[in-house]
Amino acid sequence: KKQLIGTPTRTRAILDTYGLSFKKSLGQNFLTEPKILQQIAAAAELTPNDTVIEIGPGIGSLTEILAQQAGYVLALEIDQRLLPILDDTLADYDNVTVVHQDVLKADFQTLLQQYLPKAQNIKVVANLPYYITTPILMRLLASDIRWEQIVVLMQREVAERLTANPGTKAYGSLSVAVQFDMDVDITQIVPRTVFVPQPNVDSAVVRLKRKSEQRTLTISEKAFTRVVKGCFAKRRKSLWNNLLALYGKDEATRTRLTAVLEQVEIQPNRRAEQLSIDDFIRLATALEQ
Ligand code: SAM
Repeated sequence: KKQLIGTPTRTRAILDTYGLSFKKSLGQNFLTEPKILQQIAAAAELTPNDTVIEIGPGIGSLTEILAQQAGYVLALEIDQRLLPILDDTLADYDNVTVVHQDVLKADFQTLLQQYLPKAQNIKVVANLPYYITTPILMRLLASDIRWEQIVVLMQREVAERLTANPGTKAYGSLSVAVQFDMDVDITQIVPRTVFVPQPNVDSAVVRLKRKSEQRTLTISEKAFTRVVKGCFAKRRKSLWNNLLALYGKDEATRTRLTAVLEQVEIQPNRRAEQLSIDDFIRLATALEQ
């Protein structure tokens, strides 16, 4: 009986067989701890009704576990060298499709149409390439797909920003963007020792689940994001100063900003990190409508 791909010995054997060297520039840190691979899959609460999109399958260690628990897996891998290896390591699984694709250029809707037109309950599960964690998250959230769940391993520091509450140092525009329509939690901390090669930082598994009650916006998402980013532009400065920088310092603007802040009952001397998501919605709506 074959060992799991994610065991240290099998991973080593695969790397040796193919003479594969790691590409640091592609964030290649492979997981070699089956227990943790199982825990990541468990966090995603997979069933045979689920379709999973995996970003960066590597040599297939997580893909294999996903294939065992979900209905289908569509894996996107940028490194051409890994495609023949994945063909081999995942040969026993007929519910996996690996596509040579840069996730930052991927149109998820089109890919699903093409490969899995019947997909439902779509989830993302991945051990992310850390050099592009935030752009990947932004791209996932900007997509039209209504993700049931997103479970991703990432550097601990970014995980803490995603889950941060108002009033804390880690709270910022990323926290607001992600928590807007998802409940976010860290399901576990993962030590650097379970990867080959070892990264320089510890990691965390973050789970995003769609909120049962969706928040609504009457302004565009783009306008909302612009205001939130503007408010956080200079973290140490007051909301007032950041808003002047965003909208202009002339007398007419000052008058308008004063009126808006009064209307939404937010003190101009507060700082962005003290505002809740609902505060930002009230503020941005009043400013942008
Ligand atoms: N899933 C494997 C595991 O858990 O051992 C590998 C994870 S490794 C941290 C990240 C993977 O993402 C690598 O296989 C890397 O080649 C791939 N990758 C890097 N940049 C990518 C991109 N822009 N699009 C798709 N995959 C990418």
